[in-house]
Amino acid sequence: MQKPLFGPSGNSEEFYESKLTSTIQAPKWLKEQGLDAFEYSFGRGYIMSSQTAKDIGEEFRKNGIALSLHAPYYINFASQDEVLLGKTMGYIVTGIKFLRNFGADRLIFHPGSAGKMDRHGAFLLTKQRIIDFANNLEEQGLLEGIYLCPETMGKSQQIGTYEEVLQICAGNKHLIPTFDFGHINALTQGSLKTKQDFLNILNRSIEVIGYEKTANAHIHFSKIQYGEKGEIRHLNFDDNLYGPNFEPLAEALIELNLHPRIMSESAGHQSQDAKEMKNIYENLLAQRK
Ligand SMILES: [Zn+2]
Repeated sequence: MQKPLFGPSGNSEEFYESKLTSTIQAPKWLKEQGLDAFEYSFGRGYIMSSQTAKDIGEEFRKNGIALSLHAPYYINFASQDEVLLGKTMGYIVTGIKFLRNFGADRLIFHPGSAGKMDRHGAFLLTKQRIIDFANNLEEQGLLEGIYLCPETMGKSQQIGTYEEVLQICAGNKHLIPTFDFGHINALTQGSLKTKQDFLNILNRSIEVIGYEKTANAHIHFSKIQYGEKGEIRHLNFDDNLYGPNFEPLAEALIELNLHPRIMSESAGHQSQDAKEMKNIYENLLAQRK
């Protein structure tokens, strides 16, 4: 049985407290911690040489840690400005080059923001542009072995409810969803509480994009503080107020036999909380046998 992979998004406090300073030291440390995956963020831009990326990627391969990259936050496929739209596409192309340098296979990105546009019109535009762009990249042979992973977002003006992300991902075989359950929970004012709440989303995913893509989906998991308009800030598993809790998701994953890559985006506690999620999953699995 193929199992989910667990790991942190970015280096955690615990990593730095271990007197480690640089991402090239992360793979060996993650392996020692019993973790399986890592997400490196280029959220603030691609600030790294291709040689450094190759060197870091080599360490991840050697230690058997699955590596994903997060593209810059200013990607916006809903942009009404042709120059900015060109830049958005350039950020994806550069992200693919970095995936090749690192030997990584997933590029996570935020689809776009409606801004002052009509929300639904902005979604339709975003969907069509992402699908056309992915088809174009695929025709050029640039997506072999690669997944582009649009993320579910936590604020109402951002494109990326889970239904929207599924509709986008239905358009090309290289598009798979990043379910950010903290975002989904924040946007829906705390709707994710029971196993059934998670099953509803995952079964809908199987219906729209199929079992394979759902089984291999990317997941961001953290507790997130929210207000009326959604996401406010990321918390860690110490929080008892906002949620969501990981147990019901783990139960749903086991029930549907899904093995996604699950990244902790907890505030500072990414590695501890990734280990906690892995423990919760393993314990539930053992109880079922
Ligand atoms: Zn993100």
